[in-house]
Amino acid sequence: MTSPALRLPLLAPHKDALETCVFCPKLCRAACPVANAEASETLTPWGKMSIAYFLGRGDVPADAVHADPAWACTSCYACRDRCEHKNEVATVLSDARAELFARAVAPEAARTVAARFAERSAEAARAIDAIGAGLEVVRPGAEGATAVLVGCDYARHAPEVARDALAAVAALVGGPVRPVRACCGLPLLHAGDRAGFLAAARALADEVRSAPRLVVVDPGCARTLEVEYPRLGVEVRPAELFVDLAYASIDRLRPGPDPSLPGGGGAVRWHDPCQLGRGLGRYDEPRTLLARITGRTPTTFLRDRADAECSGGGGLLPVTRPDASRALADQRVAEHRARGGGVLVTGCAGSLRRFRSRGEPAEDLVTFVARAIGASSPIAPPAAGEP
Ligand code: SF4
Ligand code: SF4
Repeated sequence: MTSPALRLPLLAPHKDALETCVFCPKLCRAACPVANAEASETLTPWGKMSIAYFLGRGDVPADAVHADPAWACTSCYACRDRCEHKNEVATVLSDARAELFARAVAPEAARTVAARFAERSAEAARAIDAIGAGLEVVRPGAEGATAVLVGCDYARHAPEVARDALAAVAALVGGPVRPVRACCGLPLLHAGDRAGFLAAARALADEVRSAPRLVVVDPGCARTLEVEYPRLGVEVRPAELFVDLAYASIDRLRPGPDPSLPGGGGAVRWHDPCQLGRGLGRYDEPRTLLARITGRTPTTFLRDRADAECSGGGGLLPVTRPDASRALADQRVAEHRARGGGVLVTGCAGSLRRFRSRGEPAEDLVTFVARAIGASSPIAPPAAGEP
């Protein structure tokens, strides 16, 4: 006998995944950074999927208490990679968030992110305009220019990286660039505001439709365009990932060692961002680029590649569960220092901001590529602050 269909429409397609999780002896339990940080059985992937399943069946009320665990996820995909069924827990929880947001029981922090999205996007657009204003290779709105989606968090919180990204893409493609002003909508997807996300996604797709090329710098934005847009029915032109663009031109990058690099050309440690690694499967490219540019193989963490551990910067965790988010960043920074330090290099705006906010002067792979292609930035990094 088959079990009845789930009543929450967005969870219905995930019934098989939810049922395998509910009856699973928590085989991915150790993988979840949020459950570990809060020492909570409820927040294990098993716990979060079970509550989503019971919500879908109507066994528990769709109230704030039962909604809360769906936002205790950084979208790190670590549980999926340890699962025999490759259950996409983060995707299921994203759809659970949408159902719960629509019922007005999302956590206040998530509702605030949605309410302030327009203001945040306008701020990011102004920031990207200002960053591009001083660069000769930037031609806002030019039809023949390569469109570059830098990412709102780079624009707002790491303008020197955003500037490096624009200059580096122009050098790599050998022509002018035009910064994309729209946000991909990922904060709204994480908040659970599905209608808002779809509107943002369509606006971005419209903005880049006529561009001859589209390069995406932040892997969180890139995965959103590559995976979430088609999953949710938004058509967008194909995009190239910044890391891939740089990797394809690796022979043009000035080989190290280079004493003008961050850290004086000393040791660098690579942190695999969840969105770039497990999200998009890019593990070798950033390592090879760093080895070329610095002249030495980057060190890593004890767990890396598919087993890499999260910075705590994803899935809105810094605002929905700030203590857990800080704890995760502090763990990574402590391990980096305990293993000998050097320059901590990552490749996504969320991880960069998270590490810097916890006192570690982390750098971005973009900065190294820009330096090696002769397109570096004169802007100093902003002072560290809490996300
Ligand atoms: S994601 Fe896989 S391993 Fe984890 S609880 Fe679900 S079925 Fe078990
Ligand atoms: S995707 Fe990451 S944070 Fe989310 S439930 Fe799985 S292991 Fe936990």
